[in-house]
Amino acid sequence: MLTSFFSDLEIRTVQEFINQANNVVILTHMSPDGDAMGSSLAMRHFLEAQGKRVDVIVPNAFPDFLAWLPKANEDVIYEKQRELADGLLESADLVICTDFNDPKRIGSLGDKLLTLTCKKMMIDHHLHPSNFPDLTLSYPASPSTCELVYRLICDLQRSDLPSTGVADLQRSDLQRSDLQRTDLQRSDLPSTGVADLQRSDLQHSDLQRSELQRSDLPSTGVADLQHSDLQRTDLQRSDLQHSDLPSTGVADLQRSDLHHSDLQRSELQRSDLNIATCIYTGMMTDTGNFSFNSNYPEMYQIVGELVATGIDKDAIYNRVFNAYSADRMRLMGYCLYQKMKIFPEHHTALIYLSRKDLYRFNFQSGDAEGIVNLPLQIKDVYYSCFMREDKVNPTEKALAGGSKTKIKISLRSQGDRPVNVFAKDIFNGGGHANASGGEYYGPLPEAVQRFLDNYQDYFVL
Ligand code: 5GP
Ligand code: MN
Repeated sequence: MLTSFFSDLEIRTVQEFINQANNVVILTHMSPDGDAMGSSLAMRHFLEAQGKRVDVIVPNAFPDFLAWLPKANEDVIYEKQRELADGLLESADLVICTDFNDPKRIGSLGDKLLTLTCKKMMIDHHLHPSNFPDLTLSYPASPSTCELVYRLICDLQRSDLPSTGVADLQRSDLQRSDLQRTDLQRSDLPSTGVADLQRSDLQHSDLQRSELQRSDLPSTGVADLQHSDLQRTDLQRSDLQHSDLPSTGVADLQRSDLHHSDLQRSELQRSDLNIATCIYTGMMTDTGNFSFNSNYPEMYQIVGELVATGIDKDAIYNRVFNAYSADRMRLMGYCLYQKMKIFPEHHTALIYLSRKDLYRFNFQSGDAEGIVNLPLQIKDVYYSCFMREDKVNPTEKALAGGSKTKIKISLRSQGDRPVNVFAKDIFNGGGHANASGGEYYGPLPEAVQRFLDNYQDYFVL
C-alpha cells in the first residue's frame, strides 16, 4: 500500500470534476520534457478509458525522442495550431495542468488559460504554485509529476471512495487544506529540495518492517527462501501477464502490446499499459534514470508496480536516452571540447551556444536537452550552467522589451547546493533545488556577463 498523498476531499473533488466533464483538455509546460509529456499523456489515457474526449495541448514542439509515447503525435501544438487549440479550450469542461505551476510557464497559452471559466486543476511538483486553479495538487517533495499522476490514478480507483457530491465545496476550503499541506512539506524539505515528507514517513514504517528483513539479508540462505517465494508469486502473476517477455533489453513496447492483445486483454487493460509507459517515462527522466532525487523506497515500489503491468522499461530507456541524432552527438562533443569553461575555485562549469553554433549543428528542438548535465560528470564540478541563444517569438514581445534575442538558461547542481535562488534572482526564473532555469532578453554576451558577475555569490559550497 502506498502512502496517501492526497486527502479524501481532494480525491473526491477530482472525481467530481471528472464526472462532470465530457471534454477535457490537458496542458503541460513549454519545451515539454519526459515528465511533462508522460504526465499529460498518462492522464489522457486514463480519462479516455472512462469515455471522455481528451486533448493534450503543448505550447511548442516536443522533442523527437518522446514522439513514440502513446498518442504523443496527437498532441496539439499551440505555436502551430492556435485556432484549433483555442477552440478546444473554449469547449472544455475541465482543464488539467500537469507539471507546471504558473501560467507563465506555458507562454501565450497561459493568457488563454486565464480567460477560461471552466473548472481547472493543477497536478505538479514545482515549488510555489500560483493560485489560478480551482484545485491544486502540488507536491514539491515528489521527484516527478508522473509519480503524482500514478498516485492520483490509484486513489481514484480505490473502491472505498464515498460517492457523495462535493462539487459545492468552497474553493477556499481546498486552498486552505492545500496551504496547510504545503507548509508541512516546506518545513520538511531539506535544502536540497529533493524530498521528503515521504522519506521521514516511510523511514518509520520501513524501520519497523525491516528489522526482520535486515537480519535476514546476509547470505544465511534465508534470503534465498524469500527470493524463491517472490519468484513463485511472480510466476503466478506472470502466467496471466507477461511470462514470455524476453529478459533481454531492447524489445519494444509493440511487442508487449502484441503479447497483451494475444491474451485478449481488455481495452482498459491496454490503456493501463499506455498509462504505465507514460508514467515510467516521466519518473525516469525527472530523476536522470533514478540517479538523483531518487533515494526513497516507495519510488521503487511504484516502479515495481509499473513493471508488473508489462511495460518494457529497458526499451523505454533506449528510446529516450539512446536516440540522439549524429548532429546532436557532435554538438555535445563541440560543447565539451570547445565551449566548456570551468571555474575550479567555485566548482562551476559554464557552456553557452550562440544561434550560429546551433545552426552549424542543424539544431532541432530537444537537442540541447541534457547538455547541462554533462559537466557534473567531472570530479569536483558541482554546479553547471548552460545558455542557449533563441529567437524572441511574437507572443513574447512585451516581455522582451525590444530585444530580438532570448537566452534560455539551464542550471544544475549536485547535493545540497540549490541553484533555484540564483535562477530566480539573476535570470527571473526558478525551478527545483538541483534543476532550475530562467531567461534573459538581450544579447548572449550580456547574459554571460550577468552570470559571471553573480555566480560566485551563490555557488559557495
Ligand atoms: P530545463 O533546464 O530543463 O529547461 O529546466 C529545468 C527546470 O527549471 C524546469 O523543470 C523548471 O522547473 C525550471 N525552469 C526552467 N526554465 C524556467 C523559467 O524560465 N522560469 C521558471 N520559473 N522555471 C524554469
Ligand atoms: Mn517534472
